[in-house]
Amino acid sequence: MKAALVTGGAGFLGSHLCEFLLGKGFRVICMDNLITGSKKNIEHLNKNGNFSFINQDISKFIKIEEKIDYVLHFASPASPIDYQKIPIQTLKAGSLGTHNTLGLALAKKAKYFLASTSEVYGDPEVNPQPESYWGNVNPVGPRGCYDEAKRFAEALVMAYHRIHKLDTKIVRIFNTYGPRMRKNDGRVVPAFISQALEGKPITVFGDGKQTRSFCYVSDLIDGIYRLMMSDINDPVNLGNPDEYDMLQFADIIIKLTGSKSKITFRPLPTDDPHVRRPGITKARKELGWEPKVSLEDGLRKTIEFFKGDK
Ligand code: UDP
Repeated sequence: MKAALVTGGAGFLGSHLCEFLLGKGFRVICMDNLITGSKKNIEHLNKNGNFSFINQDISKFIKIEEKIDYVLHFASPASPIDYQKIPIQTLKAGSLGTHNTLGLALAKKAKYFLASTSEVYGDPEVNPQPESYWGNVNPVGPRGCYDEAKRFAEALVMAYHRIHKLDTKIVRIFNTYGPRMRKNDGRVVPAFISQALEGKPITVFGDGKQTRSFCYVSDLIDGIYRLMMSDINDPVNLGNPDEYDMLQFADIIIKLTGSKSKITFRPLPTDDPHVRRPGITKARKELGWEPKVSLEDGLRKTIEFFKGDK
């Protein structure tokens, strides 16, 4: 039986990944300090004998006795509101957390997988963003704590690959949504859905012309597993290339929830990327992957989740 350590395993993506790997017959150790993750996300996994949970901050030294075949580093605050509230923990998760998990992978002779982000491209000057684009990041702005932590993490992973010959993977994750996102994490999908369900105004930031592309969580996890099993060591983008501006997106949410909410405009946060859309040619060619779940189907499932998440 293959064993995997998933850091951030009690978070939105981490919990879906733990569940998926258990389904594939893995032994899964979930590590989380529950700053933004929640035990509720993994409650249903506790009855599986192959699953265990360790409450630990990954910026501290990690000691695990049992064998591990894969280390998947998913721990980090990921919502702009969260990481701007706790920028130091965010920088430590991407730097010290990446160093500790890489050290563990080396000691265990395990394969290593880093959850990176489209934020490494910053406010991009090219659209869509291919993996070859180096980005346009403000290191000292409010998003710098996340963007630069992940850029440092990528550089450290590549150094371990080159110097220690560790088998490493880097996924650059674009906006992903689905059940188990936190209602109040401030990201646009939970924000708009909960506002629409409660009949409150939909808060569109700026003029709402900025774009994002939304990938349903099951598509993303499928891509992550394909990358994990591949022999690719360079970064790979995963995301859905269908691009919407935030006004269009607000209209879609209002329609799908049948809400009477009206749109209200709020100031655009500093350094909010004006466009974002993944180039997924590499994932298509080298992983045979592309997203399958339509925005409407994915949002319907997510809306159902938020209706039950009181
Ligand atoms: N956004 C918005 N209203 C909200 C929350 C977010 O208009 O209540 C916008 C935000 O300005 C950004 C986009 O939605 O342009 C996506 O924001 P999110 O926080 O989900 O993550 P990001 O993609 O910026 O990392």
